[in-house]
Amino acid sequence: MRARITALAVVAVLLAYAYVAPGVRREFIRDVITWDAEPSEPVELRGGAGVGLAPIARTRVILIDGLSAQTARTMPNWMALCRKGLALDVDVGFPTVSLPVEVSLWTGLTQQQTGVMFRSDRPLVPPLSSSIPARVPGSLAVAEDHGFIVRSLGFSSALPTALPGSPAKDFDPEPWKGAWQTAALDAVSSDAKLVFVHVLRVDTWGHKKGRDSAEYRNAASEADAILATMVAGAPDARWFLLSDHGHLARGGHGGEDHSVRQVEHCIVGPGVVPGRAGLVHLVDMSHAIADSVGVTVDKASRGRPISVARAMSLDPDEAVPPLALGTGAIAIFILALGLAASAWSVRRVQRVQWWLAPSWFVVGVLLFFILNGEPTLSMPMVYARTGERLREAWEPALILAAAATFVGLGRTTLLRVLVAQLALPFACLAAAITACGGWAPLLGAELAPVVPHYTAYVSPLLLFTAHGAAAVGLAVLARIALAVFYRRRPAETPRTEPSAG
Ligand SMILES: [Zn+2]
Repeated sequence: MRARITALAVVAVLLAYAYVAPGVRREFIRDVITWDAEPSEPVELRGGAGVGLAPIARTRVILIDGLSAQTARTMPNWMALCRKGLALDVDVGFPTVSLPVEVSLWTGLTQQQTGVMFRSDRPLVPPLSSSIPARVPGSLAVAEDHGFIVRSLGFSSALPTALPGSPAKDFDPEPWKGAWQTAALDAVSSDAKLVFVHVLRVDTWGHKKGRDSAEYRNAASEADAILATMVAGAPDARWFLLSDHGHLARGGHGGEDHSVRQVEHCIVGPGVVPGRAGLVHLVDMSHAIADSVGVTVDKASRGRPISVARAMSLDPDEAVPPLALGTGAIAIFILALGLAASAWSVRRVQRVQWWLAPSWFVVGVLLFFILNGEPTLSMPMVYARTGERLREAWEPALILAAAATFVGLGRTTLLRVLVAQLALPFACLAAAITACGGWAPLLGAELAPVVPHYTAYVSPLLLFTAHGAAAVGLAVLARIALAVFYRRRPAETPRTEPSAG
């Protein structure tokens, strides 16, 4: 009787977890896209002293939001300009989200240094006060839409203006669609020392249809035409052609994926030695822009003079911030505990009961990777609500969890079965939450738990463990029901064998 009550309590706990985990996941994602992180140390870039770009009277920066390197190379005007100047492969760091990347560009500080991680539709109010544009009197920025990004950066004037009382929203967006290019052309043709034009349509179509779509390519060719018009408005200026991140083939950005993190930039115009540079960091571009307008960047910036950046290109993953040593060690320790518990649960005096191992978890993870690939913050499914664009590829594997639990309860203790089925999956979840600094935000701290890889793992792992807990809980319940059923049966159908014998 006591054992049955314990088993029922276990069922209640497992089903309660399955019920609340999706809500915990939504809360976690809200923390990711809303808050800032505690500023931390950036990656070190190899470098030294060198010659920077000479200052010039007019610097013009055009950024095509969400333009992938491979698509940029199909744009005739972009390519023609790049061939006349310096083309560079640029790593924008992590995460690959427009506001944090552009804050990084205009401050020379990486996302880890600023702590600006995502801030979905949350402009910086007040705007940056010591950024490059804040040090250039009369600096102008014009954006196609999502004006809250340019309004956050510290330009003397940034268009479109905000809707009064709603800093995230643009004032009168409909007429602006027809007016912004004229406003941008007026700005670039003016005498202003620094002008920034932010083109958004490529990113918009990237989200809707993906990089491998006719709509995305079409938006890129429209952006290419806009680029030509703008350059024609200030042909003698020094031009910076930029992108803040690429897009996945099926659409999405935000993670550490190479195709998203590494984009193409070009610098063209007076004083630029033409050529092609290897991989440089976005903060190297900040340094180049600061030199071009004759200001200095923040002392903490790791950006290098252009001659140094050209000479010392980065390794493909050098720009990704490493995991803090302490958190990494704790995460590995939790994982080791999970493995040790699993090993204990399948061991018997004589032999190992492999059938009791959490095969459902291993199979489920494999299915997930085969169908989705490694989860990254670029994938819409990491943010998606259950059932929408989220491919829960592990579902067939849940049968293994239920079967192993059901059979296991007939042969060993409830504790052994629970540890066997659930210790490893929950250890993986706890390790991922630890690695990304997720515990404090889950307990209510207003902090963004954003690191490469592990933040994205937490989202599917929360659902995966919820489904696994439900499968194990239901199998325990089935076993209890079966026991009750078999206990009663002798009373309902009296055995006749003894008297017959
Ligand atoms: Zn975007």
